[in-house]
Amino acid sequence: YTGKSSTQLLSESIKKIKVNDFKSIPVVVNENVTVYDAIVTMFLEDVGTLFVVDNDNLLVGALSRKDCLRASIGKQDLNTVPVHIIMTRMPNITMCKGDDLLIHVAEKLIEKQIDAIPIVRERDNGYEVVGRITKSNITKAFVSLFNED
Ligand code: ADP
Repeated sequence: YTGKSSTQLLSESIKKIKVNDFKSIPVVVNENVTVYDAIVTMFLEDVGTLFVVDNDNLLVGALSRKDCLRASIGKQDLNTVPVHIIMTRMPNITMCKGDDLLIHVAEKLIEKQIDAIPIVRERDNGYEVVGRITKSNITKAFVSLFNED
């Protein structure tokens, strides 16, 4: 018997969960695709956030559902405007690494009021997107704590 309270045990379990344990595959688009094509990609890939990359495949921005809605109710032509015009851009993108603690990433989602965070790997000139964490991943991790042996 360890003598630890259930709260201590729960907190220890939470601190063992890394981003890599619950990550999803990222959906990325090139910065030059049109807003129209980005919206189609969101539907086809069933994601709410797209990560935007340049021709070197390095992260340059993020595009959410509401970014697309905002553009759709404006006067812009969705078929000609590229996503880099309406996205949130670097250096204002909140990112994480695969070996970060999931609880810290969950705190970032709340603090920044966003739904998704790209998991990145550092490159010479920027960041390569290797995964994504969304509120769904956090929910799955939360449920997994209940299902623990
Ligand atoms: P929605 O806008 O559909 O509610 P979010 O809450 O995720 O979705 O996005 C809110 C705003 O934050 C959007 O303008 C979006 O471009 C931006 N955003 C989304 N993900 C990130 C991120 N990882 N880092 C910085 N900004 C982001």
